[in-house]
Amino acid sequence: MGVSLPEGLGFPYDFREGQEEALRFIAMNAGWRNVCLNAPTGFGKTVVILSALLPRRAPIIWAVRTGNEADRPVEELKLFNERCGCNFFGFSFRGKRDMCLLAREMEVRDPDAVSYLCRVKKGKGECRYYENLKWFDTEPMAEKPLIYAEVMEACSREEVCPYYAQQRLLPLADLVALSYNYIVNEEMSWTIRSRLPFERCFLVVDEAHNL
Ligand code: SF4
Repeated sequence: MGVSLPEGLGFPYDFREGQEEALRFIAMNAGWRNVCLNAPTGFGKTVVILSALLPRRAPIIWAVRTGNEADRPVEELKLFNERCGCNFFGFSFRGKRDMCLLAREMEVRDPDAVSYLCRVKKGKGECRYYENLKWFDTEPMAEKPLIYAEVMEACSREEVCPYYAQQRLLPLADLVALSYNYIVNEEMSWTIRSRLPFERCFLVVDEAHNL
């Protein structure tokens, strides 16, 4: 018996050994209990989890060890959309140090210095990227999944702040990939929770043994 998915959705590849069982188990249990999937590298865990959870139409928060790893589930979402004819939106959420265009311009790299720079410049209305964002419509950015470089490219082109633009994208997302810190650190998690309440989301913790 195949896994029951809403019309128009499915698994984007031929099932490999164990994938169908894993997909069915996750689809049946996620949301009612915590599910732990232990499978070897190359099993295709990411696509199995996406295929099980996306039909549920609740946002997926995908926590990874470092921000650099956040693009992987987004890349898989792109393939899922392509192969299943869907238009789910997702993106990699990154910190200010990686996203601040003003800090790049001024060659400020230290995370604390970037935060300070932002607080001061934004507060005084002296960051043109933040000011431009006030008139910028972020919604068209949510037409297709975006990896980190694509968020940066779109925002650089429009001269708007990528860090605050991505905050606006949170309520539109079916998938948000971010570092563990945004889940476990109370202060940092507020940035996400205030726009995407955790109780409405599925939380996927990638490589959970690292926690
Ligand atoms: S508003 Fe954005 S671009 Fe401006 S200083 Fe803050 S993070 Fe940097």
